[in-house]
Amino acid sequence: MKDQTESGGETGPARRHTAGAPVVVVGAGPVGMLNALGLARQGVPVTVLERHADVVRAPRAVVHHWATLEGLDRLSVLDAAVAAGFKKQDYCFLNWRTGERVRYGLSLLEGSVAHPYNLHLRQDRFVEVMLDVIERDGLPVEVRFEREVIGVRDHDDRAVVNALCPDGSVEQHQASWVIGADGAGSAVRRLLGLPFEGFTWPERFVATDVVYPFEEEGYDQTTFVVDETYGAIIVKIDNSSDAGLWRYTYSDPEAGTPERVEQRMGGFLDTLLPHADRRELRAHSPYKMHQRCAPAFRMGRVLLAGDAAHATNPTGGYGLTSGLFDSYLLIDALAAVVRGRADDRVLDRYAHERRRVFKELVSPAASANKKMIFGSTVTDEGAAAWDRVRRLGQDEEAARVRLMFPKSLETPARTA
Ligand SMILES: Cc1cc2nc3c(=O)[nH]c(=O)nc-3n(C[C@H](O)[C@H](O)[C@H](O)COP(=O)(O)OP(=O)(O)OC[C@H]3O[C@@H](n4cnc5c(N)ncnc54)[C@H](O)[C@@H]3O)c2cc1C
Repeated sequence: MKDQTESGGETGPARRHTAGAPVVVVGAGPVGMLNALGLARQGVPVTVLERHADVVRAPRAVVHHWATLEGLDRLSVLDAAVAAGFKKQDYCFLNWRTGERVRYGLSLLEGSVAHPYNLHLRQDRFVEVMLDVIERDGLPVEVRFEREVIGVRDHDDRAVVNALCPDGSVEQHQASWVIGADGAGSAVRRLLGLPFEGFTWPERFVATDVVYPFEEEGYDQTTFVVDETYGAIIVKIDNSSDAGLWRYTYSDPEAGTPERVEQRMGGFLDTLLPHADRRELRAHSPYKMHQRCAPAFRMGRVLLAGDAAHATNPTGGYGLTSGLFDSYLLIDALAAVVRGRADDRVLDRYAHERRRVFKELVSPAASANKKMIFGSTVTDEGAAAWDRVRRLGQDEEAARVRLMFPKSLETPARTA
């Protein structure tokens, strides 16, 4: 395990931070904050180190699948999250070439699951909700912004984390356990010497936040536009009185650089959102997409969770979903270890099971979704895929099976 303060250049004198929470979480993204909140609910104090000065605002996750909401409810976050976002049930697939629409909805799960709806809530707002709940409930979580983790060391009896401060000094934290929740480019994973195995797709996704009257134009609140050129994921972000903010995400195979993204964006917007006078682009961000996974989610006293452990293309919304399911299991396992109710083999189970779920379920399903939505509907393969979509609108049992899929990504806790 490396420490850039030892192997790299001079970053200023180390100074010890004395708070000494038993768990240090690296990254105040949704996964890091959920772990912090969940551990604190079980009486485990947590220090969170975040390199940015504030919550990261880039347009990313919006959709929280119904199956993840039970966990938010257990952690007493769901009500505040629903108040900040909104519930929705409908799904629509639009075949761009033919104009055919296929609709089905989560109302099919009413009576059989506790929360038969998805929550639409952008992930930066979700992080803010968790910060508010932590403050409201007086939970023992300290979030230290502008602390970039540059060193992690595992000693037999403790882990040591070094974080770079804005003034160039290095703050040192000692903890019993460290959770690396610092995203797909994870410094913690790198410092552990772990590769990120898998591949990166050649095309980029471009996520935009845009005000546009999609509903007037017949779009549902989650619409997958299926097409090899204009394939897109269109999701309503805001249902409040000044509604009209949507996330329109498309795939661009020729968007090699940010400048190129901007040059080509007009062509996509003018086609899908043709009324330029009623269109207001609020934000956009290009993303590389990966199907990658660390070979181990645990090394000694350091654990990986969320995108730091595994990254997927976001088609179908299984990225943060997986990170939330990681968190529910890790919170229970780590709290049990810290509080002496379980030995640390429960952490090996966490590491093994969550990696297995990603490799066997999440990554193949997200790749299949991406190929279907951004693929042709006229090749034999594409036509067969569209037939399977069409069946979702005609066969309630087929729709129910598809709607239940996110539940299969959960690993039940076994530490109680
Ligand atoms: C366009 C798009 C749409 C998506 N839509 C969905 C969706 O609808 N549903 C879904 O489930 N998923 C979706 N995803 C995936 C989702 O955004 C990610 O899975 C999610 O952000 C992972 O959360 P995380 O907390 O693990 O990592 P991140 O959100 O990346 O957070 C990591 C945090 O760590 C901090 N950090 C990084 N390095 C350091 C360091 N060295 N020291 C301290 N802090 C550090 C970062 O600043 C950041 O705050 C989408 C992704 C994209 C790109």
